[in-house]
Amino acid sequence: MAFIDSIKNEILNKNIKERHCRKAFLAGLVRGLGSLYEGENGLGLEIKASNEQTAMYITSAVRTLFNYDIREVSVSEDRLNGKDKFYLSIIGERVTEILSDLEILTESDGELVVNLKFYGKLTEKECCLRSFIKGLFVAVGNCTVPDNSESSTGYHLELNFSHYTPALETSEKLAQFNVLTKITRRRESFIVYIKSAEEIKDFLAFLPAPVSVLKLTDLIINRELSNNSNRQKNCDLGNVNKQVEAAAKHIDAINKIIETIGLESLKPDLRETAIARVENSEETLSELSERLNVTKSCLNHRLRKLVAIANEL
Ligand SMILES: [Zn+2]
Repeated sequence: MAFIDSIKNEILNKNIKERHCRKAFLAGLVRGLGSLYEGENGLGLEIKASNEQTAMYITSAVRTLFNYDIREVSVSEDRLNGKDKFYLSIIGERVTEILSDLEILTESDGELVVNLKFYGKLTEKECCLRSFIKGLFVAVGNCTVPDNSESSTGYHLELNFSHYTPALETSEKLAQFNVLTKITRRRESFIVYIKSAEEIKDFLAFLPAPVSVLKLTDLIINRELSNNSNRQKNCDLGNVNKQVEAAAKHIDAINKIIETIGLESLKPDLRETAIARVENSEETLSELSERLNVTKSCLNHRLRKLVAIANEL
C-alpha cells in the first residue's frame, strides 16, 4: 500500500469521539471534496470521494451530525487510475443550513457566499483545528516517500488549494505548531508543501497520525542504512582502486630499473620482491607478502625502496 493510503486509512479508521471535532473533520473533508451547483430545486452540494471508505465516513458523519441521509450516490470509474469514485449529493433546503453550520457558506450583504476563510469558530479549539486539517489532508493531501526505484522522487507532502487565502492561512496555522511549509503555484492551484522527511514527520505528528509517524521513522532509518551500505561499497571499491594504482606505480618503477641498471644490480631481497611483484601484478599486498613469506610491512618497505631507487635513476 502506498504511504499516502496508509496515512489516510489511519486517519479514517480512528474514531473521533468529540462532536465538535467530528464536525471540524467533516468541514475539512467537504472543503476539499465538495462543490456547489445550481440544481432544479435550488442549491446542491456534490461531494466527490476517491474511495469507498471516505464516502462511507462522510455519509455517516452527515447522518449523525445533521440527521440527514445522503441518498444520492453515484459511482463512476476514474479515467486516470481506473478506481471507483463516489459522488454524494446533498440537495434541497437543508444544503444551506448544513454548509452554514460547517462555515463553508457565509452571509455577505444579505447574500450567501462561499466563505474563503477556512479558520473560524469551528477551528477555535486546538483539537478541532487538528481535526479540520486532518479532514483537509484526507481530501486534498498527498505524500510521496522514496522507494527503492531509480526514479525515486524523495520526500514530499502537499495540500492542494484552489485559492491562495486558505493556502496561506493553513500554512500560518501549521507554523504556529512549528510545522513549516512552503507555498507554490501549480497551474490553477496553490500548493502548501513540505520537502523534508523530518518536517513531514512533524506534520504527521501534529495531526496526529502516530502510526504513520512510526512508519516514516522506520523508512528514514532504513534508507539511511542502505545509503550507508552503498557508501561502504563505494569505499571498498576505492580501496581496490588504490591498490591497483599502487601496484601500477611499483611495476613502473621496477620496469625502469630493468631498463636501466638491471635487476641484477639490486640486493637479493629487493630483486626477489621486484620479480614477484611484476610476475603477480594482480595480487594484493597481503597475497604477495604471503608468497614472499615476509610481513606486509616488510614488503611495503621493500616496494618503497624500489620506487625510491627508480626515482633516483
Ligand atoms: Zn474539538
